[in-house]
Amino acid sequence: MEQMENIRLKVAVKTFSQGTYENAFCLDKNFFASFQNTEILDAELSTKIQICRIEEQEPIITVTVSGTVVVLCDRCLDRLVVPVSFESKLDNEETLECRNDFTGQMDFTQYVYDNICLAIPIRRFHEPEKDCDQEMLRIWKQRSVQEKHQDDGLFTSLADFMK
Ligand SMILES: [Zn+2]
Repeated sequence: MEQMENIRLKVAVKTFSQGTYENAFCLDKNFFASFQNTEILDAELSTKIQICRIEEQEPIITVTVSGTVVVLCDRCLDRLVVPVSFESKLDNEETLECRNDFTGQMDFTQYVYDNICLAIPIRRFHEPEKDCDQEMLRIWKQRSVQEKHQDDGLFTSLADFMK
């Protein structure tokens, strides 16, 4: 698939009559780079946009995304592969936002990007913890023990425990 198609998710809907149309895109890191997103280091996401048109009604549009993205682990700062998958139907407002009556195209780029970002968990860790970069963990733990020593009360017992 063309590189450009990976960045802009456009579908020409003008010529659609009745029926169901499926458009497949493959998103990689270039898609996120085009949004200046530096958190997502890599991606392999297959995206399917299904447009179902029944007579003169507004089309029913379903977006399905599945695959993985690579981010940094919050615990050890090593690369972490996170599975991403969701299926969503566009409501009327979202459909209008994607529509460009001038070109007769629908542009799903922003919609898909926003929903992928929502589907990525906020807390990102290697699971189990032993999959983390152990050398980095050791350094972070030492640092956090030192910081906790500066706190009073609550963390003192934990810091003592980790010595
Ligand atoms: Zn980790």
